[in-house]
Amino acid sequence: MSKKVLVTEPISPVGIEIMEKELEVDVAFKLKPEELIERIGVYDALVVRSGTKVTKPVIDAATNLKIIGRAGVGVDNIDLEEATKRGIVVVNAPAGNTISAAEHTLALLFALSRKIPAANESLKVHRRWERSKYLGVEITGKTLGILGLGRIGTEVAKRAKGLGMKILAYDPYISRERADELGVRITTFDEVIRNADYITIHTPLTKDTRHLIDHEALSRMKDGVRIINCARGGIIDENALYEMIKSGKVAGAALDVFENEPPFDSRLLELDEVIVTPHLGASTAEAQVNVAVAIAEEIVNFLIRGHVKNAVNMAPISPDALPFISPYIKLSEMLGKLAIQLAGGRLSLIRIVYGGDIAQKDIGSEIITIASLKGVLEHISGGYHINFVNAPLIARERGIKVVESKTESTEDFTSMITVELETDRGVTKISGTIFGKDEARIVRIGSYWIDAPFSHYMLISRHINKPRVIGPVGMILGDAGINISGMHVGGGGVGGEALMVLNIDSPVPNDVLEDVKKVDGIIDAILVTL
Ligand code: NAD
Repeated sequence: MSKKVLVTEPISPVGIEIMEKELEVDVAFKLKPEELIERIGVYDALVVRSGTKVTKPVIDAATNLKIIGRAGVGVDNIDLEEATKRGIVVVNAPAGNTISAAEHTLALLFALSRKIPAANESLKVHRRWERSKYLGVEITGKTLGILGLGRIGTEVAKRAKGLGMKILAYDPYISRERADELGVRITTFDEVIRNADYITIHTPLTKDTRHLIDHEALSRMKDGVRIINCARGGIIDENALYEMIKSGKVAGAALDVFENEPPFDSRLLELDEVIVTPHLGASTAEAQVNVAVAIAEEIVNFLIRGHVKNAVNMAPISPDALPFISPYIKLSEMLGKLAIQLAGGRLSLIRIVYGGDIAQKDIGSEIITIASLKGVLEHISGGYHINFVNAPLIARERGIKVVESKTESTEDFTSMITVELETDRGVTKISGTIFGKDEARIVRIGSYWIDAPFSHYMLISRHINKPRVIGPVGMILGDAGINISGMHVGGGGVGGEALMVLNIDSPVPNDVLEDVKKVDGIIDAILVTL
């Protein structure tokens, strides 16, 4: 039976067509909250824009829901915390409108430089031919300061370079290499605002960027600076901007976004130096299609193939890194499952140590860490459904600390991951690696080096390295009808302690396990189920 999607707001028909190829899609607009609650129970996916309120009662009623797609960027209409707790993935389409927003920025840059809106109004509305009043400025050779060199900032930079502008950028979270690739000089906030003829904002609105452009910042800018904001209202202090335009310090501003939208009461609307558009950055035919296609592909990929690109409540994976890290995600999850079964006791800390290539590559190890968390938590969260979305939250709720670290030492493995669990009974360390393309191996359990594949059932035991230990264990399992498909021993010289991993094809009943433990020389034995 095919999976079901409910679409509650209009999206481009191209998106619906993509989903209909593999899923059953129902479209129902303008549902009242109680109607949505009544209907949502049977759906695997929900697609919304900004108008559908996906509240806790909706999520409570959505017993089959696995993914919510927001055809757009902001997810303020979705109760993210509840969705995350329930393990529901929330995806958005942040890249679908990048080009449109960048082009709108450029449109405003030109409009501001040549006073196009005012000239247009003068001629059309007032029937005036005012050529000297609308003397403009060229942009070639001018310096553009970009605040926030993310998706949109980058596209603006590329286009502005083509226009012959010099570019300075401020973005504390972007690497110098990335900026070098773009041919953009990345520098301090102060240097950007002091030297730019035009400043364009492309950061998100966060506690750090709220009123980033305030009175003090404006006063440090070049006289006659022009400012563009196509990002979010609130990044510019609008009162300060008003005063600085009035004083002549700022020559002009072009605003697509406002602290309060619509900004009907804003004094900025009274100023000739200010040009405005009603939050049109993403409003193009192409962006609407891009967003619908992006969301439709996310929904299909997640429900049919189990992966997403832009989850709001899940660690991102770059598509380029996916082939390399996929085997490590599986490895890390199995190490977590194994470690928790061997550890026992009250868990307080999970440490994931990355060594070798996996530690060097900038591949976003977060998802690999979450995989081991998931493995650990699945074992201890009786009945609670753990997935990649809710594992970090559940670890936090349980007071389990999660630490990631890197090490130089990999014992000659190209890459090695170690999962360390601290419980009130001590520390348990398990390391693993990938052989070839995707063959996961256990290479260390505690202090024993070993080379064992994972299997669904494993009998792991410690014994004294002497004759007549391994044989009797094999006999007991054989007599119980349990097939051993792999045997791996590590550690201990003759007479010392050794560790044995048996890959077995079926579980070991308790009485058989007790018999194994009674074998002379066996120190302990445990059945592990992955
Ligand atoms: P993005 O996440 O790709 O880029 C944002 C960049 O800002 C990142 O590189 C980040 O490192 C940087 N940043 C974060 N905090 C910063 C700080 N304190 N100082 C300097 N840089 C900082 O996002 P994007 O898709 O490029 O979107 C940029 C902005 O444009 C967002 O605010 C988004 O909401 C807005 N947007 C507006 C419209 C519109 O209709 N006007 C359309 C799309 C996006």
